[in-house]
Amino acid sequence: MSPEWKRCCRLSTQHDYPVKGFLETSFIDWKEKLAAVTFSGGCNFRCPFCHNRDLVLRPNSIADVPLDHIFSRLRKFNKWIEHVVVTGGEPTIHKGLVNFLETLKKQGLKVKLDTNGSNPHVVKELVNGKLVDYLAMDMKGPIASYRRWCGSEVDTDKIRESVDFILEGNVDYEFRMTVVPFLHHERDVYEAAEEIKEARRFFLQAFVPRDTINTKYVSVRPFSPEKMKAMRDTVRSILTNASIRHNLQQ
Ligand code: SF4
Repeated sequence: MSPEWKRCCRLSTQHDYPVKGFLETSFIDWKEKLAAVTFSGGCNFRCPFCHNRDLVLRPNSIADVPLDHIFSRLRKFNKWIEHVVVTGGEPTIHKGLVNFLETLKKQGLKVKLDTNGSNPHVVKELVNGKLVDYLAMDMKGPIASYRRWCGSEVDTDKIRESVDFILEGNVDYEFRMTVVPFLHHERDVYEAAEEIKEARRFFLQAFVPRDTINTKYVSVRPFSPEKMKAMRDTVRSILTNASIRHNLQQ
């Protein structure tokens, strides 16, 4: 273990960055990559459809995964695992995130960060410090009505600031939106797409009715695969038309 490595391990304490779940291998959390996944506890949003209920509402009821265990497993498998997904909860609410990512980067790992976009100053610091290689930001719905989608008070200027920064393309990225019947109308999806129409990628995810923060959502049936496909096609055309308009103007 190098002195630098020891220093980073000491700085990134469990208290500062509480990891509550660790998957050594996943094929689904970073498209086309074999990646490890860390889940931090706690979130500043209360999206009613969120299916990480205990991780968000009762993080202290879940045992911490020791950070030195995570780092040592990643070191052991570094020939096969070169990518790590850092997700939550919401990772950017924890002051130890920077040190945690520094430790991963010093190991030569590529990092994908999942965020709800509520802390643009953290996102900028991480990108400018080259601590993330890929950003995935959730769009909960059209920004003007964010309180409704995310279930808590939110500074919509900060959401817009994150969106605008990510769209600058300083690091590769995607936006994604979980589409929830009864919460979202179809027009909400298209309105959200219009707000990020210059984006490289905007993925629509079907809602999963499991362990939801608002327990009534467990009985909500997701949109059918046909409906999801139709919405994805429309979103694709919104993004494509924007890109064609953009290219024509150049
Ligand atoms: S879905 Fe909402 S409440 Fe759940 S972790 Fe993401 S931002 Fe937080």
